[in-house]
Amino acid sequence: MRPWTWTRKIPVVAYNPFLVHARRVHSYSFHVFRDVPPLRQLRRELGKSNRTVGLVPTMGALHDGHLSLVRQAAAENTDVFVSIYVNPTQFGVNEDLDSYPRTWDADMEKLERLNRELRSDQGGSVTAVFAPTTKVMYPTIPPTSEIDGHGSFVTITPLANKLEGASRPVFFRGVATVCTKLFNIATPDRVYFGQKDVQQCVVIKRLVKDLHIDTEVRIGATVRDPDGLAMSSRNAYLGSRRRAVGLVLYRALHAGELAFNSGKRTREEILDAARRVADDTLASQKALLPSERALFEVDYISLADPETLDELDVVDPNRGAILSGAVKMMPVEEPRPNEDLGVGSGTIPVRLIDNILLMPNGHRDL
Ligand code: AMP
Repeated sequence: MRPWTWTRKIPVVAYNPFLVHARRVHSYSFHVFRDVPPLRQLRRELGKSNRTVGLVPTMGALHDGHLSLVRQAAAENTDVFVSIYVNPTQFGVNEDLDSYPRTWDADMEKLERLNRELRSDQGGSVTAVFAPTTKVMYPTIPPTSEIDGHGSFVTITPLANKLEGASRPVFFRGVATVCTKLFNIATPDRVYFGQKDVQQCVVIKRLVKDLHIDTEVRIGATVRDPDGLAMSSRNAYLGSRRRAVGLVLYRALHAGELAFNSGKRTREEILDAARRVADDTLASQKALLPSERALFEVDYISLADPETLDELDVVDPNRGAILSGAVKMMPVEEPRPNEDLGVGSGTIPVRLIDNILLMPNGHRDL
């Protein structure tokens, strides 16, 4: 296994002198901070004038899902801080840290455009973007993705070991650690997370509660493309063939939701409905030629308690449930001439996650 080193693991973009320069010469309607003290200074000043701060943590490659969280934060606070940081400790040793999309200029343009809209609404707007280097975020020891590696980490067990954590063992340790750092740095009144990453929402709620962090966790609805696919920075890798078949996850979860809505309450009834869609879709793809099909593996489809994430045999209608799943879209086997294969030419496997809340009547949120 390769050890972490500063030189290998820091994304090139973080130290690209042209980018740093570009950040200085552009004048945005918000501050761009690379280090902690000036952000803290701004936060103190805002606090003195009774302004409120909503923090939206992101890894950049911004899309409408991220922007909807910024909008929500601007509706509920005078000032919005957006952090953009591809956090190495939440990527496993063999995961896609190096190839994770980084689109700084486009991200800044999107926030700038959104700010124009927000300012004309007279509500809050983006005041600061925090885009730290890894040396700033991990000041003492270079970050590790090894399970038993050294560092100062926050672990939220057993939540972090379930579902996504089962196949990504360091993921939630990395998420909980970087979010704790961001919460300590920005001391936001509210923090904003997307329901799309539902386990992350549950972990963050537990983190804030158990560590007595003085902030309110707000969850934004999943933003989808018109056909239902949940927006994700990683969708750029899919290409049109895998994107069309990748809808299987949402369709499967939707079938489970329909079973619940028609009065079914047992695990078997709800998950069978979902699995049938996944099995039928996979069978019909396998029947196609390699130049036409997109194969996938279902990692899990889960019916779990909304707070503990324990798997449920029966849904208690007063507590509700999270119906969630993950599928891995396999690399395209045989590309066709001029086919839209997405970033990475169809060679990169893409893991898709999605979820639907089966909540008691009147509850739309976790
Ligand atoms: P990421 O940059 O992928 O770490 O995501 C940053 C935040 O945006 C997280 O709270 C995500 O849950 C949220 N997010 C990502 N995709 C969506 C989406 N399609 N709808 C709503 N929120 C999203």
